Amino acid sequence: MSQPVRVRIGPSPTGEPHVGTAYIALFNLAFARRNGGQFVLRIEDTDRERSRAEWEAQIIQGLRWLGLDWDEGPDVGGPHGPYRQSERLGLYREHAERLVESGRAYRCFATKEELEALRAEQKARGEPLGYDRRSRDLSEEVIRANLEANKPYVIRMRTPRTGQTVVKDRLRGDVVFDNEGIDDQILLKSDGHPTYHLANVVDDHLMGISHVIRAEEWISSCPKHVLLYEMFGWQPPEWIHMPLLRNVDKSKISKRKNPVSLDDYRRRGFHPRAVVNFLAMLGWTMPDQREVFSLEDFVREFDFDRVHLGGPTFDLEKFTWLNGKYFREVLSEEELTDFIRDAVLGRDRIRALVPLFRERIELGEQFIPAAEYFFSGAVEPDPTLLTPKKRSLQELGPALDGLAERLDAVHPYEPEALEADVRAYTEEIGWKPRDFFMPIRVAVTGRKASPPLFDVMAQLGRPLVRRRLKDAARVCKNPPRAG
Ligand code: GLU
Repeated sequence: MSQPVRVRIGPSPTGEPHVGTAYIALFNLAFARRNGGQFVLRIEDTDRERSRAEWEAQIIQGLRWLGLDWDEGPDVGGPHGPYRQSERLGLYREHAERLVESGRAYRCFATKEELEALRAEQKARGEPLGYDRRSRDLSEEVIRANLEANKPYVIRMRTPRTGQTVVKDRLRGDVVFDNEGIDDQILLKSDGHPTYHLANVVDDHLMGISHVIRAEEWISSCPKHVLLYEMFGWQPPEWIHMPLLRNVDKSKISKRKNPVSLDDYRRRGFHPRAVVNFLAMLGWTMPDQREVFSLEDFVREFDFDRVHLGGPTFDLEKFTWLNGKYFREVLSEEELTDFIRDAVLGRDRIRALVPLFRERIELGEQFIPAAEYFFSGAVEPDPTLLTPKKRSLQELGPALDGLAERLDAVHPYEPEALEADVRAYTEEIGWKPRDFFMPIRVAVTGRKASPPLFDVMAQLGRPLVRRRLKDAARVCKNPPRAG
């Protein structure tokens, strides 16, 4: 009997829920459903510094919004849990030790200082940088003495020095790597935490994953994974690396050119069915070339033979057009009504705004005009309003740009944290709050008067604030000519 189909996604909760994650989730789900298999959500949170529970919650919320539901995961449980790597640390250590015992991996005691010195020497000699395998063949005595002295160590893979490793990719055929070019990858760090490679392979095996469907950017890691399967004596899954999404100019999709956060699309009022439809069109065509189709249609027709590798373009204009098509032709009037009520207006959104506006309005009819900038996208700030008292627009542009970048990392996205961060940034760039806060307000609201700035920013949310700060920075660079 052939192995049951089990696939997974392994997002790392280190940032906003990314459209790329939804894209890969969609293809995993379609393949699982088409083949009567299971789709697993595993949270790869071994990067302790960058992982956050809030990001995990947002990833789950974003995927649920799109209806890309999983059969097993941290929130729904399942027979192969836990589904969060931070809760599986013992397993990784055990498996790393197993490879040490069988001679497939070794302990490396090199200190940070030693490795830095090595790097400096390599640099000075103009050699390629990298670990020189100095601990690969330590004698038993040295290892024992180091362990007795409690010297910290990492566990590294004993990568073969000769020969080749082949990744049999479903979409690309054999991709051949010379082993010489594969480093002795660290599997377990000195703090006992696994690296991505070890945790990913151990989990895929223990969770019975039959097909690894992930983004192309992981293909260069894949030979290490193939080698790990060999070292453990396990049957590897089938490998399927999906083409990378690209901006219209063909560069790798990035937030500099396109919004990449699912939240951003949700806030803009994209309909989840249109989002799924658009993602499914990237690198895939329906047998009858139809552009408008549902998730169910997609699943019914799904076949990796129809995926093409030509670098699918994430074209926001086309995406917006498709969403409009859903509004005009696909959704019923009832469905569009509910969508606007729930997703655009939404009781929760209004509820969050009431404390900001109750002191400022006396009639219901005043609410929408007062709060208008919470319900719109761009605010097109007037350059005259933007211009700071004692500074020029030329100076303001980069300051706003820098702020937009900076606020990507604020946590939580709440008034106190925002205020602390904006103040710190203002000081760092040598501005006075009095000169900088007004242009920020104008940038994010389009107005000179609003409820308290940081409350407003928190309610607008990260994606919209980012977008408006960037827009305003552009206005500063290229103020539209009067007249
Ligand atoms: N943690 C990886 C990510 O963030 C998973 C890659 C994989 O699917 O192997 O995408």
